[in-house]
Amino acid sequence: MTTLQAVGKVRISGAGVAGLAAAVILSRAGIRVTVDERADAPPTTGTVFGLAGAAQDALDRCGVLDRIRKVSVEQRAGALRGADGRVFVTANLPEPVLLVTRPDLQDVLADELAAGVVNYGRPGISASDLAGDAVLIGADGTSGPTRTQLFGSATAPRHVGTTVWRGTVETFSSPSVEDGSLFGETWGRGALFGITPRWDGRLNFFGASRAAPGTTTVEDFFTRFADWHRDVRMVMGGVDRDDMLHHDLFQSPPLARFTSGRAALVGDAAHTMTPHLGRGAGEALVDAVTLAELLVDFPADGALARYDRMRRRHGLRMVRASAAVGALALAEHGTPIRDGMLGLVGGAMRWIGRSTLG
Ligand SMILES: Cc1cc2nc3c(=O)[nH]c(=O)nc-3n(C[C@H](O)[C@H](O)[C@H](O)COP(=O)(O)OP(=O)(O)OC[C@H]3O[C@@H](n4cnc5c(N)ncnc54)[C@H](O)[C@@H]3O)c2cc1C
Repeated sequence: MTTLQAVGKVRISGAGVAGLAAAVILSRAGIRVTVDERADAPPTTGTVFGLAGAAQDALDRCGVLDRIRKVSVEQRAGALRGADGRVFVTANLPEPVLLVTRPDLQDVLADELAAGVVNYGRPGISASDLAGDAVLIGADGTSGPTRTQLFGSATAPRHVGTTVWRGTVETFSSPSVEDGSLFGETWGRGALFGITPRWDGRLNFFGASRAAPGTTTVEDFFTRFADWHRDVRMVMGGVDRDDMLHHDLFQSPPLARFTSGRAALVGDAAHTMTPHLGRGAGEALVDAVTLAELLVDFPADGALARYDRMRRRHGLRMVRASAAVGALALAEHGTPIRDGMLGLVGGAMRWIGRSTLG
């Protein structure tokens, strides 16, 4: 059998985290690869991704983990609080998570590629325009067209009834810095608020609220969380409105396959998930590296079939798990019961010594 390495070319649609990671693996193996990116330039804004162990391993396989560590901060513990500030749980994370901004992550990956591999300002091709034995990797995210071109408009990601505001602020002094509860999430009624560190010493924040699509503005952020605890109000006081990102959240319906003919979907194009597990970018990296390595090692048809077997079930499980966490975090009813249960969990963890709080 002839491998793709000997004859083929890979066209990647989308220079996000997945598209760039796949291109790094393929071009290093000597496979001809082109990345088409709709945007005119790499992103300069974007808040922080949390990358856990499997994503760090994928970055290592791309040969960039050490460089990513230099522009990341490690988070080893996190707190879960109520809107009034009471701490339910403060716990060590099962494994340290690397926090890195989207521009930094994408810069490091793009830097590994020769000039001319990534074409900005050029929309990706559709699978029907693929020439010869080429392969198409659809890495064009939640809003890209490859998924619906391959599987129909009924498979388009759907709004989940949640909106998100994100940004960065200067750090501030707070008792919660001392007791280790500043970083983590606060869950209220129908809304949540998160604060994470950045490698440059500033803070990253995100606020999410139940809301019908297109019904909220940047200003709503300030009213939605106005009566939440002090740290949330401190963040709001430091926000530069012009630097805030505000958008609605989507989730993909499940697909029966991540591949079709000589095309495959990776990352959000395959399985857009809500951000409640903080796993979307990490899963995108693992998809991309898995598929690219398979294309290096096997003939294209076999590589695509193996990729689907290795990644589809897991990806769809992550979509469901993230939705389940979101339902709990953004619950609009029964929050006193939820909060009481979380308090019991935190108490039990302190008792058995798993909590970072005394
Ligand atoms: C609020 C929020 C918080 C998040 N927090 C985390 C977190 O902590 N940890 C984590 O792991 N993940 C997180 N995620 C998820 C993460 O952002 C995505 O899962 C990740 O970016 C997916 O990578 P991707 O490469 O598949 O898609 P993207 O990074 O979205 O890249 C897709 C690229 O395709 C391009 N494109 C679109 N259409 C076309 C076209 N027609 N032709 C060519 N190019 C096209 C786009 O411009 C873009 O550059 C979060 C998401 C949200 C919304």
